[in-house]
Amino acid sequence: MSSEAGLRAYQFKNAFLPSGWADEVGVEVGDDGAIVRVTPGTAPDGAEKISGIALPGMPNLHCHAFQKGMAGLAERRGPTGDSFWTWREVMYRFLSQLTPDDVEAIAAFAYVEMLEAGFTTVGEFHYLHHDPAGQPYDDIGEMAARIVGASASTAIGLTLLPSLYTYGGFGNAAPTPGQIRFVNPTDRFVTLMERSRQIVTALPGAVIGIAPHSLRAVSAEQLHEAAAIFADGPVHIHAAEQTKEVDDCIASLGARPVQWLLDNMNLDGRWCLIHATHMTDDETARLGKSGAVTGLCPLTEGSLGDGIFNGETYLAAQGRFGIGSDSNIQIDAPAELRQLEYSQRLKARARNVMTEAEGESTGRSLYTRALAGGAQALGQRIGAIAPGHRADIVVLDADHPDLSGASGDMVLDVLVFCAGTGLIRTVMTGGKPVVREGRHFAREAIAQKYRSTVSRLARG
Ligand code: ZN
Repeated sequence: MSSEAGLRAYQFKNAFLPSGWADEVGVEVGDDGAIVRVTPGTAPDGAEKISGIALPGMPNLHCHAFQKGMAGLAERRGPTGDSFWTWREVMYRFLSQLTPDDVEAIAAFAYVEMLEAGFTTVGEFHYLHHDPAGQPYDDIGEMAARIVGASASTAIGLTLLPSLYTYGGFGNAAPTPGQIRFVNPTDRFVTLMERSRQIVTALPGAVIGIAPHSLRAVSAEQLHEAAAIFADGPVHIHAAEQTKEVDDCIASLGARPVQWLLDNMNLDGRWCLIHATHMTDDETARLGKSGAVTGLCPLTEGSLGDGIFNGETYLAAQGRFGIGSDSNIQIDAPAELRQLEYSQRLKARARNVMTEAEGESTGRSLYTRALAGGAQALGQRIGAIAPGHRADIVVLDADHPDLSGASGDMVLDVLVFCAGTGLIRTVMTGGKPVVREGRHFAREAIAQKYRSTVSRLARG
């Protein structure tokens, strides 16, 4: 079989395709980075032979890249009652000092770690917009441009989600000093979106959506307005992460956060509810049937003491989900899936919870659901080794001792529950290898810049 001029061609020993596992799989990629042809059992002419096991790269649907710079540094007990809310104060102090250069340096290193850890596209939920005094930069999209710059320098796929953040809490409370860098009234947010849309066009394949931060940071009127103004593209919102947020929402809006969203907004395939940790069974079933995606961030939710997602009920309602690295306390796609399943096991005191059918592999169930949910939430054709999808491919080391005797779905069980990122050998985005032998091509320079940036910053 001959490969057309201009196509990159690879042949993988094994690959996980939408139809299942296949051997000796030829994959041809066009100039635009999308897969043109997939041919099991045949080698395209001139194909580069890759001896590993090819999986679709995992979308990371929820990230605040700058928080990587404080990861591991909010783990000391405070005077009393450490919680999400005390962590948030530490985070506000950390971000108050960040310059655009700092944000780009931190984001670039976070994205390097993502690519090495199996994430090939990131949804950047971007709310650090303004200077430390709360004034827009001369270019209102300065910070958005830095996120795009970090994405371009690392070759990770990007869905940029500029965040609409107006209030400091429910009841249209004034922003606190820690929040002034996030704040825009709706009209200035529209300007920010216009500028951000121009900026992302520099990045082939990048998508833009909106991220009303939460029901505490925007009013109901604003949410309706924003959903109408931006009638296409992803809509992401934090919801029901903390019980205090649920209580405050009931007091202010007369309903629980997810219940309010279900009752008042047209939750459909555009929407991604981040966390949705605290839901009644009724909310869970309704959200599951809505077509929206839930953005689960199990490592961060564990780190922040949020609570445990209502997984069994959600799955029974055919609910869609993806995973996100959120605070970037640990950047690791298999570990997010493992933490998700283990949290469900601890809650249900049972095993193999996030599956439906007898004999189904839990690793496969988690991996495939998170691929589909992540691709939908980020509004991109990713998450499958199939024609038309971007050639974002993670290649596992078939000779790793933990894979001895493993084939088919067991490979995904070993990846998720046993060997984790230690299996990841090569990672491609848009058909080009960006990680070889487990290391990103620009790791050294980007890590050096990260080191000099973070060592200069006050942390904690
Ligand atoms: Zn978040």
